[in-house]
Amino acid sequence: MSTIAAISTAPGIGGIGIIRISGDNTFEIINKIFKQKKYQEIKDIKGYTIKYGHLIDPNTKEIIDEVLVSFFKKPHSYTTEDMCEINSHGGIIIMQKILDICLQNGAEMAEAGEFTKRAFLNGRIDLSQAESIIDIINSKTEKETMASINQLNGFLSEDINRIRQKIINVMVNIEVNIDYPEYDTEEVTQTQAKNMLEEVKGDLEKLQKTFYNGKIIKEGIKIAIIGKPNAGKSSLLNALLKEKRAIVTQYAGTTRDTIEEFLNIDGIPFKIVDTAGIREAEDEVEKIGIEKSRQMADSADLVIGIFDLTSDLNDEDDEIIRILKEKKSIIVLNKIDLLEKDFKINKKILDLNKKIIKISALEQTGIDELNSEIINLFKLNEINFDSEIIVTNARHKNLINKALENTNEALNVIEDNMPIDIIAVYIKEILENLGLITGENVSEDIINEVFSKFCLGK
Ligand code: GDP
Repeated sequence: MSTIAAISTAPGIGGIGIIRISGDNTFEIINKIFKQKKYQEIKDIKGYTIKYGHLIDPNTKEIIDEVLVSFFKKPHSYTTEDMCEINSHGGIIIMQKILDICLQNGAEMAEAGEFTKRAFLNGRIDLSQAESIIDIINSKTEKETMASINQLNGFLSEDINRIRQKIINVMVNIEVNIDYPEYDTEEVTQTQAKNMLEEVKGDLEKLQKTFYNGKIIKEGIKIAIIGKPNAGKSSLLNALLKEKRAIVTQYAGTTRDTIEEFLNIDGIPFKIVDTAGIREAEDEVEKIGIEKSRQMADSADLVIGIFDLTSDLNDEDDEIIRILKEKKSIIVLNKIDLLEKDFKINKKILDLNKKIIKISALEQTGIDELNSEIINLFKLNEINFDSEIIVTNARHKNLINKALENTNEALNVIEDNMPIDIIAVYIKEILENLGLITGENVSEDIINEVFSKFCLGK
């Protein structure tokens, strides 16, 4: 394979910058452009060593930078090829210049994700592990990173391969049965296939159950805060964020559109939507706001309904109560700082039978209780992010769903007493779909699509 080079550190200025080279001519190129302080022949340099010296332009002999070069010898490198990483000073111009010198001396510009693609093509990691590397890089929270690291360690691949092996064991018998019908009875093979498929169905359903948590840790739990104007929505959002981002105002109806903010509770991302006041208003802009509030509540995983304790419930509050009834929701009674301790809660609110939390958004009391209730409601404490497989990747989800469909179809076909060669067709589809997760027999298009999501130099 050709020798590729790219800047691997983030674009911009940093303390150090890393330029990576991988491929058959790596050491030949390095020999031309790197002047070691204490010269050693490449064959004498052990893998995983770092050499100090100057990066030079071999044409002009000009010193470009003072650098450290790490050596990785095949197959013990990220790509499994001969590799070097040039640690230079982290200036944009310096790094670009070093990259240009690599390119002028025989390297080709790497495409996005090409180093990882080579690790996959050379068999060091499978496709789901390669995908976990993008997820680690793009992770927004600790939990998402943990799930991705588990995937990189091969937890998902092991599970998928274990399921595939179960299928392959039975497939072998089925094929013997098809080729030599006299060797084994079809009923025995069918029973075997049925038992295996039921087991596989259970395994796949177990993975399917992790999709919701996968979505949560990747996209966050969507929370909508709804309440009539002046109930304290923006103040609550601010209290939750512990910093004032949304505009808090004394005038009703100014938060006309919605604001989205990210919140991190115990490493889980929450996406909070602060909706406009729900009210039956005459003017068009307000109407758009109301419509949007309802939509936001509809698409939220959790709705926080906020009521102003200093004013009586009105039609707008009734509207909010109606929405809360249908949804996973928490009721927040706001402005307790303005009330006596033993105030009465309105019956309409009590009748909702939802968790009620009394707060003062202004004085930030009751916010911790609200946070714990949110965590409680999603049973987030029960998910073991360290060791459980959590499927977060959309491509994997689709393939698991497809494999489960194939499994159900295969079971139906057995139920209908179809001949064993027909059953075999369905079982092979399960194998194929599962194989696509780890990258067995995967087409070039899929490979290219997966790696196009990577950044340069990875
Ligand atoms: P929104 O229209 O629902 O977003 O309400 P805001 O958050 O803008 O609050 C409306 C008004 O109520 C502002 O003047 C806030 O300072 C005030 N407010 C909000 N929460 C509290 C609270 O807990 N106690 C008191 N005393 N005032 C509050």
